[in-house]
Amino acid sequence: MNSEEWIDEELARLGQKWLKRRLLVFGGAGGKIKIDGRTFLNFSSNDYLGLSHHPEVVSASRRYLESYGCGATASRLVTGTLPPHVELEGALAALKGYGAALVFGSGFLANTGIISSLVGRCDHVLGDKLVHASIIDGIALSRATFKRFRHNDPEHLETLLKQCPTSGRKLVVTESVFSMDGDIAPLPEIVSLAARYGAMTMVDEAHATGVFGPGGAGLIREYGLEDRVNVSMGTLSKALGGYGGFIACSVALRELLVNRARAFIYTTGLPPSVVGSALGALSVIEKAGNPGTRLLDRAAVFRKRLEAAGLDVLNSKSQIIPVLLGDNGRALATAERLKSRGILAAAIRPPTVPEGTARLRLSLTLDHGEDDLEWAAGEIIEACR
Ligand SMILES: *Cc1c(COP(=O)(O)O)cnc(C)c1O
Repeated sequence: MNSEEWIDEELARLGQKWLKRRLLVFGGAGGKIKIDGRTFLNFSSNDYLGLSHHPEVVSASRRYLESYGCGATASRLVTGTLPPHVELEGALAALKGYGAALVFGSGFLANTGIISSLVGRCDHVLGDKLVHASIIDGIALSRATFKRFRHNDPEHLETLLKQCPTSGRKLVVTESVFSMDGDIAPLPEIVSLAARYGAMTMVDEAHATGVFGPGGAGLIREYGLEDRVNVSMGTLSKALGGYGGFIACSVALRELLVNRARAFIYTTGLPPSVVGSALGALSVIEKAGNPGTRLLDRAAVFRKRLEAAGLDVLNSKSQIIPVLLGDNGRALATAERLKSRGILAAAIRPPTVPEGTARLRLSLTLDHGEDDLEWAAGEIIEACR
């Protein structure tokens, strides 16, 4: 008997539901991308500020590679904390306006490591219905009780907070800019509620870091909530163009995580070149002032154009613009139609988004010229008819 028969059956089932995905190989950089020798305008990249190939970022990475070698050689608590890690954590804490920062191997690892250190079996997590998979996995790992509040709905959050047993710790978790909807959480209301009911708060700023807030600090800082949000999570792999995750927090919380977060303790420190590219990206952003503002202005024009043509862009307020199509097959067919016109836009389907809300996800970057955007908006409107 073939012990892998079930795998073929599982894959066939995914295929029938239009849910089977496959890996493609991509070439090129910035706003354009090459697949099989053809060039596409790329609306699927999280390289929001075009920093992944920025000459200053590349040269910073190279400098750290030459000075410190290819790898950190051990986990951070053993001998894997090198001067670049200390430098980066200092820069991130300063940018975010917190007492400390801690860098993880990735944003995914950061979320799983933090949540499972903050709460345990007898505790409670209240999370927005649409939070990222890495947050969900962190909660599962913690074994805390998990209740979801309706997306961006503080009233429902309050109902759940009221129902929460008084014993045990409570954690409220949300994203600031949502990755699939591009909308923005009502952070001031959420933070006030958490404080009123004695809960800790954690905000995932994966898509806000580098784009929103003063100097790209994110929305916690834009709203002035640094003193009230316990955990400000971010990633080095989206607007910063590289790889790795981090949190900004109090000195005490950082110390706890260094001792408790298994996703931090039992894995090798980030390579010096990767840390160097993050430092290079932070320096480019600082010199440029607020590059995210330019991106957000372009996104607003683009979004208005789609809306005026009757497309449903949900509540997008960011560089991430969904176009709701509903049906999985329709989303895939629309993405294919755009591809034939030279535009690469992801068809996002369940389980990444709720059933019946398949969509195109357009992410705009500073590598898209205004002419490119003007042309693409017309093509997208046409393809969605
Ligand atoms: C991408 C993402 C992460 C994970 O970050 P990586 O650095 O890519 O592992 C976490 N949270 C959100 C909301 C994300 O979009």
